[in-house]
Amino acid sequence: MAILPITKLGHPILRRPAQPVDLMTINTKKFHALMTDMIDTMYAARGVGIAAPQVGVDLQLAIINHSDTPFSIINPRILHRSFRSATSEEGCLSLPGVFGSVRRPVSVTVSYIDHNGTERTVEESGLVARVFQHEIDHLNGLLFIHRMKVPPKDLGVP
Ligand SMILES: [Zn+2]
Repeated sequence: MAILPITKLGHPILRRPAQPVDLMTINTKKFHALMTDMIDTMYAARGVGIAAPQVGVDLQLAIINHSDTPFSIINPRILHRSFRSATSEEGCLSLPGVFGSVRRPVSVTVSYIDHNGTERTVEESGLVARVFQHEIDHLNGLLFIHRMKVPPKDLGVP
């Protein structure tokens, strides 16, 4: 178990698409240790989610903390986005102290591989749908500031 250093805005890993996880590696000790470390790191930083690039790992893996029950999403794909959208304030562990209003679809259907290697498809709405979208953005090299109508100027958004 370890608390990993979190990559911050300006680190190139945050701005490029992450590599798909090879399904053969999911049941390895190393991969399970990474998932455990990411959960510990997320809790230590009081986040509601964390993506592998945020701990310097170039893989399509993220943790989502739903009702204090964290779970892994691996190689996720958004299959459907609701037409209805809503604006809400977001922050990010990679941009400490930065918050901004982001408009996103209210609900999404997502397919992903879970921590056991089982494929799942879920439809989520509300806060958890927002966390799914925020973390999947990370796996595509996007940060919430790139979704803002008017990104904060002083960040020099790369
Ligand atoms: Zn984030």
